[in-house]
Amino acid sequence: MREVNLQSKLPGIGTSIFTVMSKMAVDYNAINLAQGFPDFNCSDELIELVNHYQKKGYNQYAPMGGVQKLREQISKKIKKLYGRKYDVENEITVTAGATQAIYTAITTVVQTGDEVIIIEPAYDSYVPGVKASGGIPIYVKLNPEDYSYNWEAIRNSISDKTKLIIINSPHNPTGSLITEDDIKQLEALIKNTNIFTISDEVYEHIIFDGEKHISLAESDELAKRTFLISSFGKTFHTTGWKMGYCAAPDNLMKEFRKMHQFIVFSANTPIQYAYADYLQDETHYNSLGDFYGKKRDTFRARIKNSNFKLMPCSGTYFQLLDYSDVSKLNDMKFSEYLAKEKKIAAIPNSPFYDRGDTNKIIRICFAKRDEVLLKAADILSRI
Ligand code: PMP
Ligand code: GLN
Repeated sequence: MREVNLQSKLPGIGTSIFTVMSKMAVDYNAINLAQGFPDFNCSDELIELVNHYQKKGYNQYAPMGGVQKLREQISKKIKKLYGRKYDVENEITVTAGATQAIYTAITTVVQTGDEVIIIEPAYDSYVPGVKASGGIPIYVKLNPEDYSYNWEAIRNSISDKTKLIIINSPHNPTGSLITEDDIKQLEALIKNTNIFTISDEVYEHIIFDGEKHISLAESDELAKRTFLISSFGKTFHTTGWKMGYCAAPDNLMKEFRKMHQFIVFSANTPIQYAYADYLQDETHYNSLGDFYGKKRDTFRARIKNSNFKLMPCSGTYFQLLDYSDVSKLNDMKFSEYLAKEKKIAAIPNSPFYDRGDTNKIIRICFAKRDEVLLKAADILSRI
């Protein structure tokens, strides 16, 4: 066929590392500790609720902003956990996963030439959204020792073109958390500016050791400029259902919805009804920290005498491993070796950086059945 030349809007951006490594897991028949998803099923009750609403005929378009009773539950949850009331009608939108919410929020605020502060390591969907919207990513690294925020570096990266800062806590891939002091620093930094924030809080309920998740919604200064984003996929073991939400002040949400209605219009109807019922029992999400904390500990205990160094992990279902005592290969090559030769698929850390990362670090996902975690830890311990 005759080729028609298409100028890429995203030159230099290839296939997501999660897709690459999941394929490698299949190709090499390796245990998939790479892409972040559970290898166990979600609750029967939730599946029955979806079936129930499908059979009752809830199979046509949901309202553009989302099913009313789900928005009510989201508003109630945010108010109870973070003390801020988002108006059900005008300040909450149900989205097709957090990925769509993030893209929509980015493209709502970013115009050609705007600068966006990207904190590295960064989840892979942020930068393409910025670039596709004509924005310019400005990269600032977390402190490499403990993945805490480097506020001086962030301050130095702000210019009169800065439009947006993207924050992610609990943080993928490092498992680090934003602190009260970070919130104060961020408030001081963007007070009296027109800078917006996107707060990616998809792991809000996966937090360990008695720590409490701090939402940007808790701060008056930040909430008024924040698109707060979360995902039911992480919380209810349903990553394949692709449903999340965005909460934001009405003036921001009004613009967000202008985009949302033409990107997706609305999200899956019966699943929204099912989540609305399921969310009424708070234990379904309040027990998540204990549940995944045990998995983290199971994996860490089994691998602690190995040649891998365990990095701290305060939240998310990811654990970083430093393999500098194991191999001199770079992280891409090492991950390929692990998948091919040792039958363990992991995620190299460098794709979370614009310019890669020379540290020898891989990420594993511990949202897996205990027997799988133990088997994988035993294989890794023998390397
Ligand atoms: N943000 C982060 C930090 C994530 O890790 C993920 C996916 N694991 C997402 C957003 C996307 O969430 P969803 O699957 O709901 O689109
Ligand atoms: N968020 C998941 C991870 O970090 C992957 C989601 C995806 O594949 N886009 O592994």
